[in-house]
Amino acid sequence: MNSLKNKVVVVTGASRGIGAEIAKLFGREQAKVVITGRNRKRLTQKEENQNCLAVISDISKKSGMKKIITLARKTFGRIDIFVNNAGVGINKPMIKISEKEFDLIYDTNLKSVFYSFKELLPIMKKQKSGHIINISSMASRIGVPGISTYASSKAALNALSEGVANEVRRDNIKISVLAPASTDTNMMSNMSGESKSPSKAKNKLTVTEVAESVIYLAKQNQNAWTSMTHLRPLAIKK
Ligand code: NAP
Repeated sequence: MNSLKNKVVVVTGASRGIGAEIAKLFGREQAKVVITGRNRKRLTQKEENQNCLAVISDISKKSGMKKIITLARKTFGRIDIFVNNAGVGINKPMIKISEKEFDLIYDTNLKSVFYSFKELLPIMKKQKSGHIINISSMASRIGVPGISTYASSKAALNALSEGVANEVRRDNIKISVLAPASTDTNMMSNMSGESKSPSKAKNKLTVTEVAESVIYLAKQNQNAWTSMTHLRPLAIKK
């Protein structure tokens, strides 16, 4: 297992939900953590010490991704691990979803990762190391009505990641995909239309469970490509 102490880690979409927890757990491992999001207030509240940098930025824009990577390197000198976590989901059947909504989902969930690859791969190649961890979704593997656009953006993310992993394996760059099942966050309650309540949350993953999987991936001395699905263990009724 690799130590994460002093590793430079970037987590996109760290202003709340899964990303905030991922950043917190990397902080506990004594990594240097760059947290990103668009909401200045929520993000800067989480900028705890000199080993943490908050970057306000829209990752669906090429300039937004460039800003994050430039500031992370300017502050900490390198990037060891980059977690593409920021994402959006809209629950609407195909007949109702607009082109604008389709573009928003694809620009946020897929094009942002393309921008990150274009910026990061030359840097990591020069460093002769790097790990990019992309947060997909179990929805990418099953046909759930109402979220076909979201699910297809994540399925494309899986394919993009696996292909790129095979392109860069000789450069000691690793690409991982983590596909969690339903997780108790704002996105989940917005997409399912359910209120965030303790009883509804019972069947969902917690943000900590998902973040622990990311830490597990980051610590592994694994091959160039890892794809992992994180499911909630089924509760056994007695
Ligand atoms: P969330 O609570 O809605 O948080 C989303 C995060 O992404 C926020 O920090 C938000 O920050 C950021 N974000 C969204 N659009 C952005 C943009 N254009 N530029 C910069 N930041 C942006 O969602 P979550 O449930 O934690 O989801 C995190 C990831 O896990 C997503 O990729 C999602 O698809 C995936 N996932 C979630 C579930 C689930 O059930 N919750 C299951 C499987 C996979 P700002 O608002 O500050 O910009």
